[in-house]
Amino acid sequence: MDALNRAFEKAFAHTATKETLMELLDCLGSELECDRIAIFEFANDATFSNTYEWCHEGIAEERTIFKHVPIHRLDSWLAKIQRNDVIVITDLNEIKESDPDIYGMLKGKKVSSIIVSHLAFHGKNIGFFVIENPASDVISEKDSLMPGMRYILSSLVYSDHLIHKLDRLNHSDPLTGARTRVSLRDHLKTLTEINNIGIVYAEAISWNKYDNKYSVLKEDQMLIHTGNILIDVFGEDSVFRIAENEFLVLQIDISQDEFNESIKMMKILLNEQKLVAAIGSLWTEHPDASPEAMIRQTHMKVTEEHKKLTENQVQNKRDELDKKLWGNVDNAQIDLLRGDDYFREAANFLTENSGDPIILVALDINYFKLYNDIFGRKSGNAFLESIADAIRDQTEKLDGICGYLGGDDFCFMFQTKETEHSKITPIIDELVNSIKYADGFAPALGIYLSVDREESLVTMYDRAMTALSSIKGSYMEHYRFYDAEYFRHDRDSKLLLMEVKEGLKNNEFIFYVQPQVHGQTAKIVGCEALIRWKSKGQLVPPNRFIPELEKSGYIFTVDCFVWEAVVKWLKSLIERGIKPVPCSVNVSRVDFFFTDIADHFIELVKKYEISPSLLGIEITETAFTDNTDSILKSVQKLHDFGFSVYMDDFGSGSSSLSMLHTMQLDVLKTDVKFMSQDDSDVRAISIVESVINMAHMIGMVVVAEGVETKQQWKTLAALGSNYAQGYYFYRPMSIEDFEKLLQDPDKIGNSPKKAGNQMVTNHLQFKDMIRDGLVSETLLENILGAAAIYKISGDKVSIVQINQHYTKLTGIEPGDDEGLKKFLTGVQIEGADNFLHNVDAHILEGLESSLKLNGEEIHARTFLLYTCDDHKLYLSTLQRAE
Ligand code: C2E
Ligand code: MG
Ligand code: MG
Repeated sequence: MDALNRAFEKAFAHTATKETLMELLDCLGSELECDRIAIFEFANDATFSNTYEWCHEGIAEERTIFKHVPIHRLDSWLAKIQRNDVIVITDLNEIKESDPDIYGMLKGKKVSSIIVSHLAFHGKNIGFFVIENPASDVISEKDSLMPGMRYILSSLVYSDHLIHKLDRLNHSDPLTGARTRVSLRDHLKTLTEINNIGIVYAEAISWNKYDNKYSVLKEDQMLIHTGNILIDVFGEDSVFRIAENEFLVLQIDISQDEFNESIKMMKILLNEQKLVAAIGSLWTEHPDASPEAMIRQTHMKVTEEHKKLTENQVQNKRDELDKKLWGNVDNAQIDLLRGDDYFREAANFLTENSGDPIILVALDINYFKLYNDIFGRKSGNAFLESIADAIRDQTEKLDGICGYLGGDDFCFMFQTKETEHSKITPIIDELVNSIKYADGFAPALGIYLSVDREESLVTMYDRAMTALSSIKGSYMEHYRFYDAEYFRHDRDSKLLLMEVKEGLKNNEFIFYVQPQVHGQTAKIVGCEALIRWKSKGQLVPPNRFIPELEKSGYIFTVDCFVWEAVVKWLKSLIERGIKPVPCSVNVSRVDFFFTDIADHFIELVKKYEISPSLLGIEITETAFTDNTDSILKSVQKLHDFGFSVYMDDFGSGSSSLSMLHTMQLDVLKTDVKFMSQDDSDVRAISIVESVINMAHMIGMVVVAEGVETKQQWKTLAALGSNYAQGYYFYRPMSIEDFEKLLQDPDKIGNSPKKAGNQMVTNHLQFKDMIRDGLVSETLLENILGAAAIYKISGDKVSIVQINQHYTKLTGIEPGDDEGLKKFLTGVQIEGADNFLHNVDAHILEGLESSLKLNGEEIHARTFLLYTCDDHKLYLSTLQRAE
């Protein structure tokens, strides 16, 4: 005890916590005559690390070795430590049998006796400390020594934590990770000799001011994302959050060009993420005013800019966002907490349940918009309702909380004692299995396991969403855990960018081509150029670098390179007397921010004097949902000049088929990877069939992509897909290999005619529709349920085709035109006198109505298939209300 008191006295002569702790370990170590005293602290990620250590002379330091050790290595000690039992091992051999793991570890460290004790303060588990090979009287006196030592060490370690935390809070904004006002003030003091300075003042404009519908969470997310973009572009040392929604960037000694380039990049990224900010900037060489004065000057510009962003513009953006958030699903009867109500409850849930880790899960549905298109809004609502039920049941079992965030977004969370993913997945599997979904429309879940109870709800939700978006549209994975390592690729992405720049200089980028074939004959009619990177002797596939390049905007440079290379190649084929087939190139949605894409391609074909009909422009569907207006203009211009414009990966984004109608697109590419190998999978086939049919109805040509088996090809050919592309026919290959194919007349077919909107014109014959697969037997009998196709001309109704289900439900037999007319006249629709004359506008969505048949509630959907001078052709489907 004397020894202890002496140590305390000496240590507390220091004022700083850290020094006190070091001094204390030093005194205790020599007084207790041990080999080592070490403090281990628990971290939030279920690991522990050695943070302080004192060693006897001649004993090697180990502090750097014991970092981030998984906590389960301590399993046999943990319960005892947390019960405040002091663990004493006087002879290591005692535990040789009972605890071989710890025995092995201590033996390796040449420890023969050890004392281990808990560190806790105000009920918070901090860690533990160990005394290795102490003098024998220390062990016998342990009961009187340990409580005092434990208390003092715990309180010192805890204060050290607090000091760190305060320091962090003072200098780093916990929400956005930007530096704080305090930090800015300190920073300004250090600026003495400045050669030049660039200042950006960004005021994030919040939707909240205009509408309360957007939750606080969305608001915080907006700030996080704005902050992240600024930090990405300008570096974390330069970005300060100086007020609720105001950020300041200070760049010292940066060239004007570099500064302007960064601002451009920032604007692109903000725009891409639909963030609105009023921005002012200033660059000065050898400034004579103080930095504070220049900041004020920049702020003035923000105020002007803010005025310019009139309410009107903000309103437009908001409408856009609104559409994106709420889509066209609105009236599903979902009995869950919604939006802000949910987040309020969720915040309470977190405060009430402090202790165990929390699991937060975000869920949405793959291709939900498409689901609505194909199966109708009512089915879509029913699907959402069934998901809500499944989530509610599961959350109730887990004593958790769940909510509906609009559109197809759900969120739920619960507490758990498990921190291993493998123990959590059965719960998720159970949920997924309890949901009934059609192929291709599986739920996707992002899961975040939060062990750190100090994390905010926004951070947790954001991480679950990050995990979710990484598997969106994947048919293989239903869920993914957020994994900090996996997503912490900031540094990696900067490295990647440098490597790509280097790679471009060294001609490491090339393109492969994959043939596109005729749907019936399988002869080559075109090809698609796909970028490849030969890095360090290996071929890197695009999905490994394109998403990163899109984030930084560098994709544009790389794409320009590919486009020009493709045009040069086509030109060289012609010069060498090899007849080319049209080749399509990929355009990233980000490219549209950089230039007028149409002008760019027009210049390119003029420069190399090739026909625009040789070039196809593939734009992924997601681009259209992002910034429709400017893309629509470009598409129109490209189309008018003679290029074929493709919508790539249709079904992966959220555009609906009716949207396609307004665009001048020529070709629709849809990936058929969700089609299983046997064609008994009627649902999956019906999706493809509906896509093909509707595309044909609006005059687009369809390319089925990802065809891997003969079976798939046969099915697609039967469904009327015009062209196909996939491993079954050809894999992507080098241009040298492709040129060999081009010179083999047996393999080459006639190049496709450019599509026109011919189908919606008057001259469509029903025979043609059957032949082109518009309405197939499968569709009519199996998918549509009760269906009839009929013609109306003036007052005359005539049945073209009617299936057995329809007859069964209505009693109308094939040929009973009068019966059908009577039936249709009886169907009442809101705001119109009857059904017959009101379906014109609903060419793609179908008109929905409901009626009673023999006391049963029936839903009807009617599509106008085409109009001729004197008659109209309709498809009508009936479905029992559930
Ligand atoms: P995409 O434009 O949809 O291209 C089709 C992708 O599907 C290609 O992958 C192709 O190799 C692959 N594929 C073709 N047939 C099959 C099949 O039967 N089964 C399966 N599982 N896959 C098949 P790749 O070459 O890895 O390209 C991936 C994506 O990267 C492309 O998807 C495109 O979005 C993008 N990309 C490729 N080249 C460029 C480029 O030059 N610029 C831009 N911006 N994006 C590019
Ligand atoms: Mg493509
Ligand atoms: Mg594609």
